[in-house]
Amino acid sequence: MSKKPIDRSKLKAATQVATAARAYNEHGMVNPAVYHASTVTFEDVEALKNRKQPYVYGRRGTPTSRAIEEAIAELEGGFACKVSPSGLAAITTALLAFLKSGDHLLMVDTVYAPVRDVCDRLLAGLGIETTYYDPLVGEKLKGLIKPNTKIVYLECPGSQTMEMQDVPLLCKIIHEHGALAMIDNTWSAGHFFKAFDHGCDISVQAATKYIVGHSDAMFGSVVCSEATWPQFCEMYEIMGQFAGPDDMYLALRGLRTLDVRLERHQKSAIQVAEWLRGRAEVETVLYPALSNAPGHAIWKRDFTGASGLFSLILKPASDKAVAAMLDGLELFSMGYSWGGFESLVVPFKPHRTVTQWTTDGPALRLHIGLEHPEDLIADLDAGFKRLNNASPAKGQAEFASPDAPFRRTT
Ligand SMILES: *Cc1c(COP(=O)(O)O)cnc(C)c1O
Repeated sequence: MSKKPIDRSKLKAATQVATAARAYNEHGMVNPAVYHASTVTFEDVEALKNRKQPYVYGRRGTPTSRAIEEAIAELEGGFACKVSPSGLAAITTALLAFLKSGDHLLMVDTVYAPVRDVCDRLLAGLGIETTYYDPLVGEKLKGLIKPNTKIVYLECPGSQTMEMQDVPLLCKIIHEHGALAMIDNTWSAGHFFKAFDHGCDISVQAATKYIVGHSDAMFGSVVCSEATWPQFCEMYEIMGQFAGPDDMYLALRGLRTLDVRLERHQKSAIQVAEWLRGRAEVETVLYPALSNAPGHAIWKRDFTGASGLFSLILKPASDKAVAAMLDGLELFSMGYSWGGFESLVVPFKPHRTVTQWTTDGPALRLHIGLEHPEDLIADLDAGFKRLNNASPAKGQAEFASPDAPFRRTT
């Protein structure tokens, strides 16, 4: 008697990521083989001609690529997935798939900054116009959509400044106007936010971050709805997109522990963020999981959890004082990227073109890793001591550096 296949969409997320795509494994191995493939051979002339065998050429898919693609598609709850050598490559391919000369793109102002170059340099050169919009645009999105708007690109929460978009509302408006909603779902890893359940048509991720999860590979994914899949695949193939087999394997390996890692990132990040909120040196903590934080109501309504990345704005302090704080940190390293097991901090200045920020205290982005939160708090506590020691004494003029980051006023 053969076993009846289970309805995988009814499984809890932890079970899904632990068991997804294991049909690709062979010989009873728990993990799949890593196929390093370019040439795939055919049995005879007839097979060569009809190309009906499951694998025909390295770039067209291997059991390793199919396994990670199937697993990410299931995680995100979309129809199917393709993978790329980086998040940026995934985003660029997805944009090119749905935009042609004469089309219009609405791009969220908080977008991961290198995507601005894709819009302002690559797409502009191809005759595709980009308009940036306020992430908190809400109903006013209606007034920005033009007859030739093909894609509205969302990101929730926004890079660095963590604005929470009302994704279901925006998707409704987007669809009423005949456009498609594409979202950068990296912050939730597709685990804490189900983009397709909330109306999105295409979900892109820098799988480099939480899916890989160990800061040891670059990887991107694009998950599509059934309706958008064929058009996306055409461009994916034209562009020759694929990813290296070892990186596919690392992404699949990272995915297995995604649920348990994210739970810990979340728990520790909340503890550290709550502590930061109580500090005299801190002006605001931008982390939608905190009650009363900007965007908390939307986060609570649409997300099932929060990852370990958030930002904070300090009370005005000199560059020297901030450097004294950051340079002496023992457990937080400074570096771009995030989503690995390690805690990170970077000062930032948001690059925005349509939202207004006033100069105020310095802004920091923190990624809370898998270290014990009490150790992280002690590290930050010592950092604040250095910050205070390097700050002008009370009564003396404090100064905000001319390069100090900005605080949103609109
Ligand atoms: C890092 C990042 C990207 C780009 O991913 P890479 O793999 O570094 O190319 C895209 N979007 C967001 C939100 C990111 O944080």
